[in-house]
Amino acid sequence: MDRLTAETKIKELAKRIERHNRLYYEEDRPEITDQEYDQLMRELIELETRFPELASPDSPTQRVGGEPLPFFEKVVHKTPMLSLGNAFGEADIRDFDRRVRQAVGNQPVRYVAELKIDGLAVSLHYENGMFVRGATRGDGTTGEDITQNLKTIRSIPLKLTRPLTLEVRGEAYMPKAAFEKLNREREERGEPLFANPRNSAAGSLRQLDPKIAASRQLDTFIYSIGELQGETVESHSEGLELLESLGFKVNKERRVFDDIEELLAFIDSWTQKRPSLPYEIDGMVIKVDSYAQQEELGYTAKSPRWAIAYKFPAEEAITILEGIEVSV
Ligand code: NAD
Repeated sequence: MDRLTAETKIKELAKRIERHNRLYYEEDRPEITDQEYDQLMRELIELETRFPELASPDSPTQRVGGEPLPFFEKVVHKTPMLSLGNAFGEADIRDFDRRVRQAVGNQPVRYVAELKIDGLAVSLHYENGMFVRGATRGDGTTGEDITQNLKTIRSIPLKLTRPLTLEVRGEAYMPKAAFEKLNREREERGEPLFANPRNSAAGSLRQLDPKIAASRQLDTFIYSIGELQGETVESHSEGLELLESLGFKVNKERRVFDDIEELLAFIDSWTQKRPSLPYEIDGMVIKVDSYAQQEELGYTAKSPRWAIAYKFPAEEAITILEGIEVSV
C-alpha cells in the first residue's frame, strides 16, 4: 500500500472507530459487535505501525474510552484509569510473556490470570474506612461522579472492616439473569432493548435518578488497588487478598502461575467453561504479580506493559428472548 492510500485509510478508520466509541461509551448503544470493533482497531494499529509518521497523537489507538457525560460532576483520577493491550490468541500471549521477561532481565515472572468481566470500570474512594466517592473511568483522566448510583449496589461496602484510606478499582456489571429480566420488562413496555449486559450496566449507572440503578440488580468484582495509605503490599495477588479481607467482592476464579504453559491451559479451559457463568466475561486478564516488576515494566500512553487482555473469539450462539432473536 502506498503512503497516500494508507493516509486515506487511516483517516477513514479513525473516523469510524470514533463514531463507534461515541455509540458505545457515551450513548450505551453499540451498532457493531466487539469483535468487529476490535478488527477495525487492529487494522488501524497495523497501518500506524507500518506508517508511523501518519499516526496522530489523538488517534483512537492512543486514547482511552469516551468523554464523560456533561450532566455528572467530573472526577479527576489521581492516577489514570487505563485500558489494556489485547491478545487474540496463544501467539500474542507468548509474545507478551517474551516482552515481559526481556524487560525484567530474564528474572522469573509470576502471573495472575483473572476473568475479564464484561461491565464498566469504576473507581471507589474510601476515607478512614468509609465509602466517600465513586466514579466511572470516563476518558481515563476524568470520569463521572456516580457515587449515589454505586451506593445502591449491595456488594460495594459502605464501611470497610478496617478504617483504611484507599482507592480501589473494579468492574460493575449486570448478571445475565438480571439482564434478561430487564429486557423482558422493557419489551412488555414497548421500550428499546439493551444490546448486552455491559451496555445495560453502563446505562443504569449513568442515570441521574439512583432509584433506576437500585432497581437493576447490579453487582461488582473489585480487581485492583489504585492508592493505599498506611500499609504496603508487595504483589497484585496479595492486594487481592487484602481487598477480600476489607469486605470487597473479589472474583474467586483467579489463579497464580509460574509456568506459561499452565497459564495457557487455564485460559483455554475458560474458553470452554465461559457460558456456564452467571455473568458475562469477554476474555481473561493476565497480570505480572510482583509490583516491583510492574514498576519496571511501566506504561504506554494507553495501557500498562505488565498486563494484557486475552479476548475470546465471538460466541456463535443465539439467545431467544421471548421470541426475539438477539445475537450474543
Ligand atoms: P478492554 O475492554 O479491552 O480492557 C480494559 C478493561 O477491562 C478495564 O477498563 C476494565 O474495565 C476491564 N476489566 C474487566 N475485568 C478486569 C480484570 N479482572 N482486571 C482488569 N481489568 C478488567 O478495553 P476498553 O478500553 O475498556 O474497551 C475496549 C473494548 O471495548 C474493545 O476491545 C471492544 O471490545 C469494546 N468496544 C466495543 C465497541 C462497539 O462498538 N462494539 C466500541 C468501543 C469499545
